[in-house]
Amino acid sequence: MRPVNKGDDLGVFNPYTDAQQRLIERLGEYCSYCERWIASGIHVEHKLPKNNYPEYQFIWTNFLLSCTNCNSGKGHGTLNIGDYLWPDSDNTYLAFVYDAEGRVLVSNNCSDEIIIKAFQSWKMFGLNKHPDTAIANQIKPTAKDLRWKHRSDAWRKATRYKMQLLQYDSPERREDIVEMALERGFWSVWMTVFHDDIDMRQRLINAFKGTSTDCFDADTQPIPRPSGQL
Ligand SMILES: [Zn+2]
Repeated sequence: MRPVNKGDDLGVFNPYTDAQQRLIERLGEYCSYCERWIASGIHVEHKLPKNNYPEYQFIWTNFLLSCTNCNSGKGHGTLNIGDYLWPDSDNTYLAFVYDAEGRVLVSNNCSDEIIIKAFQSWKMFGLNKHPDTAIANQIKPTAKDLRWKHRSDAWRKATRYKMQLLQYDSPERREDIVEMALERGFWSVWMTVFHDDIDMRQRLINAFKGTSTDCFDADTQPIPRPSGQL
């Protein structure tokens, strides 16, 4: 999950839908959880659900952006914010791994405490939905939930462009690839496919608005976020 930085606290938005444009300006038109590019129907997402926490309904620090699938999976109950990992306060790139089949999996390479929080977040946002239910805790998605397929498509495309770079490499070609990544979303998939190409990873970090640069070292390797849980 792409770690993001929403920038300065913009305070109160009433109605909260007024925050949508400012969030898009700062984070791009991507779901904060599944990272898909959203052509229309992007929602202002409340980390603390607005029905249960009306006092946070209009507060910038409680906002993210989400697609219909991630938004509907979240439910409306009470939650303890510290029981989950959040893309605007943790380095969530460290918590999850992505594969060619469009799966998102919880990384084992974290402390037990963080793995529990990652697991809770993974289930809450429905990132565990995948047709391959042979893997523990994966749940079959509905026909309308194609997040897994779109991740797999992005993986295939990214792999093809990576192969093409071996045949012909230039800064312009690299910028073209970044443009294609921006059109599809799934930043973490592109970062994973280009795991051994620091230049491409740096371009992806720079190009996707609001990616939290303090979550990566000079070689684009993820590092714990200052003041984050991870
Ligand atoms: Zn989503």
